[in-house]
Amino acid sequence: AADINLAGVTKAYDPQTIVIPPIDVELKAGEFTVVLGPSGCGKSTLLQMIAGLERVSAGKIVIGGREVQDLEPKQRGCAMVFQNYALYPHMTVFENMAYSLKVAGLAKVERAERVAGVAKMLGLSDCLSRKPGQLSGGQRQRVAIGRAIVREPGVLLFDEPLSNLDAQLRHDMRVELAELHRRIGATTVFVTHDQMEAMTLADRILILNRGRIEQFDTPKAIYHHP
Ligand code: ADP
Ligand code: ADP
Repeated sequence: AADINLAGVTKAYDPQTIVIPPIDVELKAGEFTVVLGPSGCGKSTLLQMIAGLERVSAGKIVIGGREVQDLEPKQRGCAMVFQNYALYPHMTVFENMAYSLKVAGLAKVERAERVAGVAKMLGLSDCLSRKPGQLSGGQRQRVAIGRAIVREPGVLLFDEPLSNLDAQLRHDMRVELAELHRRIGATTVFVTHDQMEAMTLADRILILNRGRIEQFDTPKAIYHHP
């Protein structure tokens, strides 16, 4: 796991609209941070910048001592789980999870072992030969998570990953994600507008309002000491 440091990080998609004013924050290695705020407040933008998918307009983001913008995508050590899963529809579950390992040059035997281990952890062992179209919503979400963690990333980024699931499944996945985080310990940034997700998952909650950090503290400090 790696520390994530944001120093003077600013984002303006065009000069007239500053989405994120300069912000400074340090996310400690291994911590689970939930970024909470209403739609349009800049949560996805922040996450995309940490992932290196969107450039900062000013300031810098340093992960594990290295500036994100200087790194090739392969060197970044971030894995992201998207709201719409973004699975490869023509590939099996196994292939979806093994693909990035193949790109990274892992030998076939090692790919199979890693995928089998992650599939077991996520209850997907019986689905490996199926395609995403043959899975339930919850299973697809698990595949998306499996695909992210199979590379053993130091940083794990989630963009509203549970919002397409029904209430029961959202609850179950919250429990699973908390357990998963205890097991793998990656520095995690999880974006949501759901207060319940923030309270149950977060070591620290970062409340974003129009791109500004309104609060950054433990759930206990935020919700029990108004
Ligand atoms: P959230 O994830 O909290 O819903 P976003 O980060 O998606 O917020 O968006 C923050 C603001 O930036 C919004 O006003 C949105 O319209 C704007 N925005 C997001 N992406 C782009 C883009 N690619 N080009 C221009 N404006 C954008
Ligand atoms: P390659 O594409 O070079 O053959 P992959 O790592 O993508 O290598 O996987 C090899 C093939 O074996 C894939 O088609 C995959 O579906 C299959 N495969 C390997 N192990 C399993 C497994 N445990 N369960 C299901 N399919 C598997």
